[in-house]
Amino acid sequence: TLTVRELAEFLDQAVPGVSVPSLRRTLTVAAQPWLLEHRPEGRALLPLAALVTVALAERPLPARLVRGKVLMPCEVRSDTLELDRVDDAAGGFVVRTDGVVLASGAVEAAAEPLALLPTEPLKRGGLSLAHFHEEFGFHGPSLRALADTPEVGATQVCGWITGHADPVRLIDGMLQLALYWLAENRGLSAVATGFAEFRQLLPWPSEGNLFCAGRLTSATADRLLGDFDLRDAQGVLVAQWRGVEARVLGAVAETSSAAAAWPEVKELAARKAALATAGFAMPYFHVHEGVAAATTRIGGRDFINFSSYNYLDLAGDPAVNAAAADAVRRYGTSASASRVASGERPLHRELERTLADFLGCDDALTLVSGHATNVTLISHLFGPEDIVIHDSLAHDCIVSGARLSGARRLVFPHNDVAALARLLEIERPKARRALVVVEGVYSMDGDLAPLDEVIALKQRHGALLLVDEAHSLGVLGATGRGAGEHFGVPRSAVDLWMGTLSKALASCGGYVAGEAALIDYLRYTLPGFVYSVGLSPANTAAALAALRLLGGQPERPRRLRARSEFFRELCRERGIDTGLSRHSAVVPCLTGSSELALHLSQSLVERGINVQPIFHPAVEEGKARLRFFITSGHTEAQLRETADTLAEIRAQWREARA
Ligand code: PMP
Repeated sequence: TLTVRELAEFLDQAVPGVSVPSLRRTLTVAAQPWLLEHRPEGRALLPLAALVTVALAERPLPARLVRGKVLMPCEVRSDTLELDRVDDAAGGFVVRTDGVVLASGAVEAAAEPLALLPTEPLKRGGLSLAHFHEEFGFHGPSLRALADTPEVGATQVCGWITGHADPVRLIDGMLQLALYWLAENRGLSAVATGFAEFRQLLPWPSEGNLFCAGRLTSATADRLLGDFDLRDAQGVLVAQWRGVEARVLGAVAETSSAAAAWPEVKELAARKAALATAGFAMPYFHVHEGVAAATTRIGGRDFINFSSYNYLDLAGDPAVNAAAADAVRRYGTSASASRVASGERPLHRELERTLADFLGCDDALTLVSGHATNVTLISHLFGPEDIVIHDSLAHDCIVSGARLSGARRLVFPHNDVAALARLLEIERPKARRALVVVEGVYSMDGDLAPLDEVIALKQRHGALLLVDEAHSLGVLGATGRGAGEHFGVPRSAVDLWMGTLSKALASCGGYVAGEAALIDYLRYTLPGFVYSVGLSPANTAAALAALRLLGGQPERPRRLRARSEFFRELCRERGIDTGLSRHSAVVPCLTGSSELALHLSQSLVERGINVQPIFHPAVEEGKARLRFFITSGHTEAQLRETADTLAEIRAQWREARA
């Protein structure tokens, strides 16, 4: 029942001397080219085989490694990984990286060979190795170790493993053999998590292939157990592995209480498994290793990047970074309280004053999250006697806020002003207050709410209006002041100007700006503000610095819009459908089918271009797309290369299907 941290602390404190590493290994991509190539579920994880080699390093042979266990998956995030092995006097060890315990086990001397695996009739597998690696494997070229198509039976598998003197590849090869069996017989993939015993009887041969036989000993929906014998070409036993445990990827344990309580938990796992089985890498949770701007680095590779909100290229800007660092030096890392009760810093008011002045509003209030801003704002200001009317493509935070308010929630078809007019006509007289919510720029389609027409309607019907400027602040308008500037409407025509600090303003948080009396009321009563911590000093300073840069450099939004227009034009020339996208920096490329969206995004990743696919159920089937976020930092050459590559891959796909 010890947590990993407790175990580490126990080992460091309770056993004298064991915190000093007995062995240190530095893995680098140059020396261990497979370091970033083991990617179950799309993440680079240190292979169990690497932990086995560290556990056995510099031990007299034959050696017997028992109770090997991966305690915590080690995600490899850079080209170098330092591993320490800490041994105790009784043969127990842990492997750590950066103080975190990854694996544990014990090594004992003298090992007798175990009984050899029995055999059953086997036949050559039907999956080609290429197909296997593509659809079920998660191993890069320098880790792939199957020399030939394995032979498989009902519970057994055997085949030749090519390691070329790299023990990690050899050991992982045994697991790849088992994975082949699983793919061939069950169409599943799995990743090893531990074992009962590993015996190394001879040094790893420096050349030649090894023959491995494996056997499944037990299986549940989510776990597999198996054994392996590894021999040289003369049939001499080199190593044996018993009780190797693997977790089936995408499976949720039958015993999981979460799965019992929420069928949705199992449903999600099944969807992820289906994606993996269809040969698609997980398109989510990519780990970016630096600033995500026009380019980014993922898994040690550089990409042209279209999946950041860093519209004005200010996240990562030296002046913004310096302001955040200075704020941390001065005020620390947290506001440490709600601003009402001791959390206020001079930066908070400075940001709000600057924001209000930039927008031309009386005052502004900032909160720790853009999403939470809409949720708390709408639910606080409206109630059961009111109506909230929003666009059918409204962001989740608007829908959630409206739901929580208890007001009657009415939806009009996307940008259909006539439908909005009808709703107001019929419903407005029955309600105490009516709120209309639109977005400056819609985040899935990149089109604009017709703000001038919406304002005319809200005035005619005596409704209130909230405009979400998440994707329009810093983007629209001659000087980046958003939808209001784009449409040339008076500031006071909109009651609540809401936006986020996380996009053009290179920070994290949300704001609402408007009339002084209303903002002051919110400052004392808005639950998401009053009962939540103040914006962190670093985030406040970053947003303030970004806002000042934006104020002084209107060429940034101008360049952003020009680059976005350029990209739309490139797409148009190549017959790529950018849907409704106009004026904004969100450019969807509609693919129709989810399968094509996934295929295109994955093929683009292979070609060094990172863009997010959006597919069913996030959008209706038939409306799948790639969504490009353009930034002011994208060069014309990058945009041209992207459009060309996209058109080329799409043409190949069509040709293959013709
Ligand atoms: N509103 C809209 C329209 C958004 O697209 C988003 C985020 N994508 C938000 C609000 C929430 O902002 P944040 O991510 O800063 O919480």
